[in-house]
Amino acid sequence: MPLRVLVIANQKGGVGKTTTAINLGTALAAVGERVLLIDSDPQGNASTGLGVGRAQRTTTLYDVLIGGQPIADAVVKTALPGLDLIPGDADLSGVELELGHAPRRSFKLRDALEPVRRDGAYSYVLVDCPPSLNLLTVNALAAADAVLVPLQCEFFALEGLTQLVRTIDLVRGSLNPLLEIQGVVLTMYDRRNSLSEQVARDVRSHFGPAVYATVIPRNVRVSEAPSFGKPVLVYDLKCAGSQAYLKLAREVVQRERQRRVAA
Ligand code: ADP
Ligand code: MG
Repeated sequence: MPLRVLVIANQKGGVGKTTTAINLGTALAAVGERVLLIDSDPQGNASTGLGVGRAQRTTTLYDVLIGGQPIADAVVKTALPGLDLIPGDADLSGVELELGHAPRRSFKLRDALEPVRRDGAYSYVLVDCPPSLNLLTVNALAAADAVLVPLQCEFFALEGLTQLVRTIDLVRGSLNPLLEIQGVVLTMYDRRNSLSEQVARDVRSHFGPAVYATVIPRNVRVSEAPSFGKPVLVYDLKCAGSQAYLKLAREVVQRERQRRVAA
C-alpha cells in the first residue's frame, strides 16, 4: 500500500497536536501500521513524549532540512515496534532564516521524504507541526497527502481555523494541488461542560462529515503520560484517552481505505 503522509496542523498552541501525533502514531502502530513520526516543532515535545531525550537526538530533522542528511540517518527507534521517530529540537527555530531564499525552500521535507515514499518501509508518516504557519508548517503541508486538524473544545475553537483553511487553500493552489483534509478531531472534550458540547455541535455543523466521529476526551492520564516519556496507550491502555486514540486510528485507516476504493 502506498505511503500516506498526514500532517497534524493548527497554528494555535495547546490544542492537542503533539498529543495527537504521539498517540495516534502509537495507536496506528498498535493496529498494525508502520509509522514514522516526524517532530517538526522546535519545542521537541513529541520527541520528549516518546522518551527520546536530548542526548539521543544526534541527527535531527534540522540536519535533514538544512544539512541535507538522508532522512534514514535521523531515524530513531522508539520503545514501540512499528513506531519510529525523526527527532526535532531547538535548532529547528532557525530553519526559516537559514533557508532564506534557498531554491525549493518549501519542498525540503517533501524532497527528503522521496526515498521514504519509494522504499515502502512505512505505511504512515505523521508530522507534528509547530503552533504557527511558518516555513516548517509550509514544508509539512507541501510534503503532505492530507492534513489532520486537532481542535480543542473551547470557546475560540473556530477562530483561527479560517486562517488555517486559507493557508491550506494557498498551498493547494501553489505547492501541493492534491493536498486533502483527512479530518478534524475534537480534543479535550469535557462531557460535564456544556461549552464542550456546544463547540462540538458548532464544529460539526461547520465542517460536516470532515469531523471524525471519535472525540478525544479530556483525561488526566493523557496529560500525565509525556512526563514518563510514554504514549498514553503504553502508560495506561485502559483509560478513556487511550481508547479514544485507538478509535481515532481505526477511523483514520477506514477513511484511507474508502479513499482508495473511491479513487
Ligand atoms: P499542541 O501540540 O497543539 O501545542 P499539546 O498536545 O502539547 O498541544 O497539548 C497541550 C496540553 O494539553 C498538554 O499539556 C497536554 O498534555 C494537554 N492535553 C492534550 N490532550 C489532552 C487530553 N485529551 N486530556 C488532557 N490533557 C490533554
Ligand atoms: Mg505541540
